[in-house]
Amino acid sequence: MLQASVSTMIDRYYFDVLPLHPSPKNLETLTCYLTRIAEINGIKHLDDLSKTMALEKHVFKQMTDYPLVSFGEIASRTVCSESRILATTFFYMAKKFGCSVYPAFLQYFFKGSLGAYLRYCPLCIDEMSYYSLIWRFLCLPGCALHESQFLECCLHCDNPIPLLVLPSKIGLCPTCKGDLRACKALPLLEEGIQMIHQYRADIESLLSQNFDENEGDASKRAGYKFAVLRRERQLSPQQVALATGIPLHEVYGMEQGGMHKRTSFQSYVKYADYFGIPLYSLFEYSEGEQERVDTQKKHIDVVFEHVQGAIQDLNSRKEAVTLTAIGKYVNISPNRINQYNSIEAINKETLLDLQIERRKRKKQQKENVLIERLYKAITILTENGRFLSQESISEQAELSPVQLSYYASARALLIGYPLKEPRLSKRLGEDYVIELVNTAIASLISLEQAVTLMEISRKVKLSIYKLRSYPKVKIMLDNIVKEKRPKVTI
Ligand SMILES: [Zn+2]
Ligand SMILES: [Zn+2]
Repeated sequence: MLQASVSTMIDRYYFDVLPLHPSPKNLETLTCYLTRIAEINGIKHLDDLSKTMALEKHVFKQMTDYPLVSFGEIASRTVCSESRILATTFFYMAKKFGCSVYPAFLQYFFKGSLGAYLRYCPLCIDEMSYYSLIWRFLCLPGCALHESQFLECCLHCDNPIPLLVLPSKIGLCPTCKGDLRACKALPLLEEGIQMIHQYRADIESLLSQNFDENEGDASKRAGYKFAVLRRERQLSPQQVALATGIPLHEVYGMEQGGMHKRTSFQSYVKYADYFGIPLYSLFEYSEGEQERVDTQKKHIDVVFEHVQGAIQDLNSRKEAVTLTAIGKYVNISPNRINQYNSIEAINKETLLDLQIERRKRKKQQKENVLIERLYKAITILTENGRFLSQESISEQAELSPVQLSYYASARALLIGYPLKEPRLSKRLGEDYVIELVNTAIASLISLEQAVTLMEISRKVKLSIYKLRSYPKVKIMLDNIVKEKRPKVTI
């Protein structure tokens, strides 16, 4: 009876708008949106959904939230703009990276980056009742909002959850009908939380509709920013490929940007991580409009460098330096190299030497400033009686370990200090703690300083609370307070 009425309804609305058609929620996946639409309109079979949306059944079966070649009647049946429907897919993100939105290119671009099944945060489902595109990204181990790990399957039946299956209800496992909101997610590890917030913000910005169709240079500009970062470190594309595990042709592809390049999102993430920058910053203008004008010039500059590197490599391998060989090496067709006039680069070795010389000088200047900052940090820490470790010094100097590891003299300066301040724990034997306290008292006396609990605690690097947790030490401390003079032995 119910089945009959659903069919009648679908027939009636076949060329019309669905009776219930809420808009997709912010960052909702296409597969979730269609599940939701089907659920509230009583559509229980893919055949019916296929008929309603004027799309082949296999399209729904293979759906993984990539933009579809054709969206059939999804937009008209739900009274949504096409751009709104596109936002339920990875369309805008692919566009920002200059990736073609045809399936083969998308598959290459997102390889290894997306989960094949639903990954979810039970608390988010409870609050929002839909599934987010952000959850699909494997570089995010968990939900930044609830700081808990994503779940990869239904904890009631242990089955992974397909992205689109009918009939289905958001928040319920399609296999066992268990409530996904009741599944318990583990908290995220403390160390990773900041990184996850950064990734989440990056991915959210990259998925957003905020993209100018006419502005096709975004990926070239992003590529140039990568090349600048790499040059600042005086690294070649080959060295970056080796250090990050990104295939060399993808390093070239990213730095050159553009639609025709075979690059992957995973490689972009690795490259940005390696240089410690947020991924989204690649797509932002940093120097105003002028940068837009210069993009093409900068792009040519990057290609120039790649061609130079290829020539050097080919020479060192004693291989013939031909346009074809260079083209193959740097992932550009020989015709396009000619277009760039980059072949002139062959006669510009001298220019390159001068550039390298200038970069070396710049690096030396930077290094001097950095060392000065480190010495200043050491002085401040010493004056304040703080423990000197690589961690505390770099923190005081406001320099990241990555920045420091890049400069040999900074490394040499820090090597004499322990990595971190050793953490004393309650597991220390009481006798050992007594000895520490006695040494601290003796030291305070010899320095003619007041023997206070605060000073002792500071010297032994254990809180007063922790010290008092040792019964014998507690008696020592109580005596000090009572007698207002030190008691060296007990
Ligand atoms: Zn959540
Ligand atoms: Zn289940």
